[in-house]
Amino acid sequence: MKLILLGPPGAGKGTQAKRLYDRHKLVQLSTGDMLRAEVASGSELGKEAKRVMEAGQLVSDEIVINIIDKRIDAPDCKSGFVLDGFPRTEKQAIALDEMLTRKGGKIDGVIELAVDEDALVERISGRFACAKCGAGYHDKFQRPKKEGVCDVCGSTEFTRRKDDNAETVKARLKAYHEQTAPILPYYRKKGLLQRVDGMADPDAVTQEIERVLSRIRP
Ligand code: ADP
Ligand code: ADP
Ligand code: ZN
Repeated sequence: MKLILLGPPGAGKGTQAKRLYDRHKLVQLSTGDMLRAEVASGSELGKEAKRVMEAGQLVSDEIVINIIDKRIDAPDCKSGFVLDGFPRTEKQAIALDEMLTRKGGKIDGVIELAVDEDALVERISGRFACAKCGAGYHDKFQRPKKEGVCDVCGSTEFTRRKDDNAETVKARLKAYHEQTAPILPYYRKKGLLQRVDGMADPDAVTQEIERVLSRIRP
């Protein structure tokens, strides 16, 4: 099964993608995580991406298309994956269809997580993650069970993303509305788009996604 999680920054894509891995072993392919790894490595590509990401703009189509094209050839993707944060432009959506056709596959479903704009800002401002295993948390909505200790791996170190500040969030939401939202009709026309209420609590969103999956299983 090959899925796309679509939605604005802070909609819950990463949270739900991790659960799709736990439940169905669909590998989470987050272009944001891949780009942050490039930035951390200090590579030329990382240096280029860093400036763009810190400004809340989109990294060039060419770069992210190349990253995904290589990544989906890896053996762990054979049994299925969930794209989190890709495609983000019409050009990326078309390139994705082309590369899957070339590799002999196709997208089985696109899940849109719909969340109100006010809630997005609150979610992004309170987001943090475990520095060791990457488990995601929120100051208000998803605190670790034991204060200061990661539920998953027991680490006591956490990180916050540099681009999760009020100023950059505005630019990221603008990029979503101008460049990403226009790809929703692309998938609607193909009959692939499934809308899920992302305003519900995380467990309810997971349940709704499970209902969608039971309908689209290839
Ligand atoms: P995205 O990957 O779409 O940017 P995340 O999954 O990182 O979004 O979620 C953004 C923040 O909101 C995180 O801090 C996460 O813990 C929290 N969050 C995720 N889903 C929900 C939800 N359904 N209700 C409340 N908070 C949520
Ligand atoms: P969020 O879901 O919170 O918006 P991501 O981790 O998906 O955050 O992305 C962080 C940043 O990485 C984006 O603001 C953008 O600069 C860059 N990025 C991630 N995925 C893409 C993509 N598919 N195309 C262009 N830029 C991307
Ligand atoms: Zn952890």
